[in-house]
Amino acid sequence: MPRDIGGGGFGMGPGHAKFKFDDESGKTHLSKALLLRILQYFTPYWKPALLVIAVLCVSAVLGLLPPILIQQIIDRALPERNLRLLFMFVLASLATTVVSGLLGVLQNYLNSFISQHIVHDMKNQMYRHLQRMPLQFFSSVRQGEVITRMTSDISGVQGVFNSTIVNFASNLFILATTGAALFLMNWKLALLGIIVVPLFIVPTRKMGSLRWKLAKQTQEKFAEQNQVVQETLSLSGYLLMKLFTREDQEYHTFQRTNAEATRLQIRESLAGRWFMMALTTFTSVGPMLIYLYGGYLFIQGELTVGTIVTFVALLGRLYSPVMQMTNLYVDIKRSAALFERIFDYFDMEPGITDQPGARPLEAAGRNIVFEEVSFAYQPDKPALHGVSFTAPAGTLTALVGPSGAGKTTITNLIPRLYEATSGRITIGGTDLRDFTLASLRSQIGLVTQDTYLFNGTIRDNLLYASPDATPAEVEEACRAAYIHDFIMGLPEGYETVVGNRGIKLSGGEKQRISIARVLLKNPPVIIMDEATSSLDTLSEHYIQEAMHGLLQNKTGIVIAHRLSTIISADQILVVQAGSIVQQGRHEELLAEDGIYRDLYETQFGAGSLTKQV
Ligand code: ADP
Repeated sequence: MPRDIGGGGFGMGPGHAKFKFDDESGKTHLSKALLLRILQYFTPYWKPALLVIAVLCVSAVLGLLPPILIQQIIDRALPERNLRLLFMFVLASLATTVVSGLLGVLQNYLNSFISQHIVHDMKNQMYRHLQRMPLQFFSSVRQGEVITRMTSDISGVQGVFNSTIVNFASNLFILATTGAALFLMNWKLALLGIIVVPLFIVPTRKMGSLRWKLAKQTQEKFAEQNQVVQETLSLSGYLLMKLFTREDQEYHTFQRTNAEATRLQIRESLAGRWFMMALTTFTSVGPMLIYLYGGYLFIQGELTVGTIVTFVALLGRLYSPVMQMTNLYVDIKRSAALFERIFDYFDMEPGITDQPGARPLEAAGRNIVFEEVSFAYQPDKPALHGVSFTAPAGTLTALVGPSGAGKTTITNLIPRLYEATSGRITIGGTDLRDFTLASLRSQIGLVTQDTYLFNGTIRDNLLYASPDATPAEVEEACRAAYIHDFIMGLPEGYETVVGNRGIKLSGGEKQRISIARVLLKNPPVIIMDEATSSLDTLSEHYIQEAMHGLLQNKTGIVIAHRLSTIISADQILVVQAGSIVQQGRHEELLAEDGIYRDLYETQFGAGSLTKQV
């Protein structure tokens, strides 16, 4: 069922990421719909898939030949003392083995071909799908989950195609051909051999359930363990743990889950041992019954020695697929859970998409207007209600207000990172939703507080928005953003690597690079979130100058934290608890009784209007 991701009700609870085991009773959950959906991935590869089926069929039949040839050797070649016949049968047996081996190689090749291609297709599909997910998805999903889904889950799929499905088909054919051969040879002996099958099916199933339960518990312990590691050995978690001297408690939690996981794993592997012992006993009962009854028939002169020997050999070929198939059910369940998790992701509707008939937004020098806009991240908690204002083209609008008031939310609605729950936003009188997303976003430059720079050179980072910019244009943008001199002072200038594996830049430097990046893109609308972190006077001066260059002749909407920005704004919107409570220029607002004057009076000395309110 598609998940609701519109507006706010995004159904990604914290429990969602958990490995989806079935209920305690261990019922298989491979529905027809799920199976059909999995099989769809085979469609482009139906030819090699058919070939695999053909190879499996031929191999299953070929596998019957060696025991049958043994019967011929014992019953014909040996009693007749016919060396030529003996030689022929042995040679035929050898040839069968060689051909089977060759077919095995072909089948392996085809399997890998199909499974790798399916994994390849799924990975592409998943990446494309995740790209289309709304921002809300990434802020609510657990850290690392997307990577797990992309890597280990999809790789797990390869195992399913490569072994689970192939083993299932192969065992099915072996079972069918061997069963038929046994009944054709002697139906009474065949019945006798089959009578014992339930003896090992029952314990195998029981063991499957037990191992499933243990695996589930182990998995939960591992998840707990990972959580402790993630929470205490990440940068911020580590600080928290150290500052509150929680090392011993955290170690205790880790040690406890670790010990439980170990205990569960030992139980799981021991359960396997006992099980194997029981199985070996049961599987030897069948041949013994055959020797007993077959021997009796031989003594009566109704059966040849060769038939008895062949029967026992074929019985092995019958039992092993039965056992494997019974075990396979655990694999199948695991695979079903794996696919369900992957399909769960595929079923989440991409958030915000182009409406039918959406048209491109032309380079716009037009007013941005909010008309009674409301928005909620979660249905019961509105973040904005009835927000109305006009940001006239070519002017600077400053948003001020206490933290959590809804300023970022207002700015996020303009490039449609989120969709207004009610009301509408227009540019030049046209609803944002009537424009294509790509054209809308290409007209907007966003400078966030915490600029993300990916691993790569400064130049790569700058060119991300406009790959065709010339070095001269890059330099010009960096000069205008007051970052050129700083970049030139770095060991390798524009080619210096930044990000995780490169040099670390201060918040102010990163924001100036971000400004240069937006300058290169040169969009008519600029949305900016001023850094709240305290900057030294020089950095602040640079940022102000850079902003000045950036906002010239643009429609600017700035979440303002600095007095100089507020004073220079054409209009100030004071946001409080999701509404605009005051609107005007600095002097006008100061003259009014209201939150703005309080903000100003408390914060003026600190030079910041919002942070500690
Ligand atoms: P500001 O920018 O003024 O500090 P925000 O617009 O970031 O305020 O937040 C407004 C309200 O919305 C706050 O109560 C905040 O907790 C909530 N909020 C912000 N982002 C999310 C989110 N991704 N999911 C749920 N609630 C959010």
